Amino acid sequence: MTRHTTRMLIIGSGPAGLSAAIYAARAGMEPIVVQGLQPGGQLTITTDVENYPGFRDVIQGPWLMEQMQAQAEHVGTRMMWDTIVEVDVESGPPFVARGDSGDEYVGDTLVIATGAQAKWLGVPGEEALSGKGVSACATCDGFFYRGKKVAVIGGGNTAVEEALYLTNHSEDVTLIHRREDLRAEKILQDRLFAHPRISVLWNKRVERFLGDPLQGGLTGLQLADTVTGEMSEFGCEGAFVAIGHAPSTELFKGKLEIDANGYIVVAPGTPKTNRPGVFACGDVMDHTYRQAVTAAGTGCMAALDAERFLATLEYVRNEQQAAAAE
Ligand SMILES: Cc1cc2nc3c(=O)[nH]c(=O)nc-3n(C[C@H](O)[C@H](O)[C@H](O)COP(=O)(O)OP(=O)(O)OC[C@H]3O[C@@H](n4cnc5c(N)ncnc54)[C@H](O)[C@@H]3O)c2cc1C
Repeated sequence: MTRHTTRMLIIGSGPAGLSAAIYAARAGMEPIVVQGLQPGGQLTITTDVENYPGFRDVIQGPWLMEQMQAQAEHVGTRMMWDTIVEVDVESGPPFVARGDSGDEYVGDTLVIATGAQAKWLGVPGEEALSGKGVSACATCDGFFYRGKKVAVIGGGNTAVEEALYLTNHSEDVTLIHRREDLRAEKILQDRLFAHPRISVLWNKRVERFLGDPLQGGLTGLQLADTVTGEMSEFGCEGAFVAIGHAPSTELFKGKLEIDANGYIVVAPGTPKTNRPGVFACGDVMDHTYRQAVTAAGTGCMAALDAERFLATLEYVRNEQQAAAAE
């Protein structure tokens, strides 16, 4: 077992964690980033990214994350191939986390950037056609389907918001829901039903995504009627799975304030959790925007606030030591 110590321990290596690392490293904090099972985060499972500032042409998600990691390492970040399996946020600072490898990570401050995972239907064709017509993010990918027929699968707020958003690009948006009423807020439902380019297919469950990933991608959906069991096919070129996200917060349950949907609660407009010295950034605390650029922005905020926290802590410690020595 090796014990790694740092002034800032960052859990997660997506845009939030790596942005925090870049700021912390440049402030001389020699941060450690524990990468987890998905080094680079969610953008490594997508292809085209067209909305991250700074690039005129379409870039690839995995490439963007390689650049962020290279920049973080270049300015002095230590990257660890490990996954945190246990963390003590109650007795710190310093905060002690244990990795799957058995190694121990000790940080004077802790930045949680463990992200979230989109929930998928888990039916045939979904994974193979992901990025080839199947997506879990209309804000990210809607632009690629301009002028095309698209479907949104789900019945909550996210699904309705995604359907409304997609009308910016598509003339023909269909919301597909397995029940006969929506869970979304009334005001969103009213906007949905009033929209001339959105139709709703009720009581339909997606059984399979149709199409060949190597030849044109998604061509449609195989649907089962949840009342009659009747099977049908629905032709579309884009399908957006909008059944929610699962923030990666298992490690922190009962230790930090977490909302009903599993997101870490932060003080409004800040990355500060309810534990002094523990900060959260990116999708793990943001159920609204969920974008790489917002994750990077809150990562920067977490690093700056952690740095200020540490400066205050060190000042107080020095004062106490000076007083004790007198
Ligand atoms: C298919 C897809 C396409 C997208 N396209 C775009 C786009 O075009 N533009 C855009 O702006 N956004 C896009 N997004 C959204 C964007 O990817 C996210 O908003 C962003 O990645 C969130 O960053 P994050 O750093 O908060 O978390 P994530 O990217 O989710 O990273 C989380 C990190 O935490 C690590 N981790 C988790 N648990 C542990 C643990 N126990 N120990 C150590 N590490 C851990 C993971 O390994 C990972 O490195 C897309 C998302 C998806 C799924």
